[in-house]
Amino acid sequence: MTLEELQKTVDQWVKKYGVRYFDELTNMALLTEEVGEVARIMARTYGEQSAKENEKLDLVDELADVLWVLTCIANQTGVDLTEAVKNNIAKKTQRDSQRHLENPKLSSPSRLCGDCAADASATDVKQ
Ligand SMILES: [Mg+2]
Repeated sequence: MTLEELQKTVDQWVKKYGVRYFDELTNMALLTEEVGEVARIMARTYGEQSAKENEKLDLVDELADVLWVLTCIANQTGVDLTEAVKNNIAKKTQRDSQRHLENPKLSSPSRLCGDCAADASATDVKQ
């Protein structure tokens, strides 16, 4: 699904099942709520907080909730997410193309994602 398809799908769903969009400030509060749900899962899964017995920790579903509400806000404020993301990536590339490569804090394998750590150790073997 492309971002354009996502925006259209969310718009159609809201108009069919949701009657209308919640107002922008309500959706902002809902976005904050959903991000908080992601934070709760991250703290319990990757952080030092423990989960309660039988607590459901569904990161995939909560990230989708965040994307859903974010898409609602984009739709109701006239933001084309495809263009926005393209422009944002171009901005980040121009601004940060060397900054992260030159950051010694990022060279520690323990801070790399699983796939990146595997790539890094493969590179280490070659050297
Ligand atoms: Mg949620």
